[in-house]
Amino acid sequence: MNHWDYETLAVQTSIPRGLGESIGFPIHAVAAFQFDTLEEAQSEFQLNTGLSYARLQNPTVKALEDRVTALEGGAATVALASGQAASFTAILSVCRAGDHIVASSSLFGGSTGMLNNILPLMGIRATLVENHPDAIRAAMQDNTRLIWAEMIANPSGDIADIGALAQIAHERGALLAIDNTCGGAGYLCRPLDFGADIVTNSLTKWAGGHGSVMGGSVTVGTAHDLSRIPGFTDGGENSILKLRGQNALAWKQRWLGVQQLGMVASPHSAFLLAQGFETLALRLSRECDNALALAQWLQAHPKVGKVSYAGLPDHPHHHLAQKYLRHGSGAVLTFEVDDPSAFLSRLKVLRIAPNLGDVRTLVVHPWTTTHGRIPEAARLAAGVTARTIRMSVGVEALEDLKADIEQAL
Ligand SMILES: *Cc1c(COP(=O)(O)O)cnc(C)c1O
Repeated sequence: MNHWDYETLAVQTSIPRGLGESIGFPIHAVAAFQFDTLEEAQSEFQLNTGLSYARLQNPTVKALEDRVTALEGGAATVALASGQAASFTAILSVCRAGDHIVASSSLFGGSTGMLNNILPLMGIRATLVENHPDAIRAAMQDNTRLIWAEMIANPSGDIADIGALAQIAHERGALLAIDNTCGGAGYLCRPLDFGADIVTNSLTKWAGGHGSVMGGSVTVGTAHDLSRIPGFTDGGENSILKLRGQNALAWKQRWLGVQQLGMVASPHSAFLLAQGFETLALRLSRECDNALALAQWLQAHPKVGKVSYAGLPDHPHHHLAQKYLRHGSGAVLTFEVDDPSAFLSRLKVLRIAPNLGDVRTLVVHPWTTTHGRIPEAARLAAGVTARTIRMSVGVEALEDLKADIEQAL
């Protein structure tokens, strides 16, 4: 099945075949599953391989997880309540007190906040540096366990040089985690194919696709070396690596994210997200086409300042977009206007809302909203100025989007 393309996997994975089987999957709106005997219950509680309690496993959530695994080309996925829950699970599954993370500074504001404010409470420190392999290599320490970057950074459009980052991480016994949210959950890029060890997604964005549901995912690849990560090796014969072998990373993410911390996706959300995947390719390819056309048009517009979109030949990461992305350079771009407040208040088609991946074109002023709570220097490092507008391009008619932006300018 893995030789199928994204478009086929997205609609076929998790759908059973056979007489009377539904084409689609039911929402299992239940908290628990029953046993026939005490022995069956005991065995399930020891092995945790089947169904007992819906925080641990639910068939609708599993259908979503299998879909993400297939689409990201991974070995296993855990679905979570949000993208933030996914990032937290991915990081905490690798790092513990005393460990260090090197991250790109071109990040979603919530990730910067987690790295700078939440993880230090647990003794995990992060160094945020320019999104360039040389800067990341220079920031590596003996206790660095994880490199963290976004495939296509929100909102700057910077592209992670995943091949180079994987090499730096692996030389030092660390892992590479890529937030693939703006990579469209595997449609524009599958970071695991280029050496990443962990891929996270905010499924709220392109998987959901209609701004109607929240969710996240963490997917692990098939080959990763945990032998120099103390959180997996400490404990000798009882270490997680000894006990779980090849499944250690996937096991720890599920155990931590849903079983222990309870950041579980609801079956209703899982249903909507899995269904959203069925049209993701159609939506995102059209959104990429619209985004490129708008970026080119805005760049030539006399009333528009800097336009940042990796699909434009003068973006510093254009060559990385060509190396790692297929189908387009994403649906998000930024541009500068002189008076963001006046511009936003005049829009009639575009809507002001802090979301990405919606079928509708959404704009925000990151300086005062999505990135408003992080220090000014960090905002600038993330590619955000006081004049920046972030636009997540939807599927509307291109001419209507242009006309609306034109009258608002
Ligand atoms: C939105 C977003 C998140 C967080 O996802 P939620 O579903 O909002 O919790 C993480 N990373 C990126 C790149 C995002 O855009």
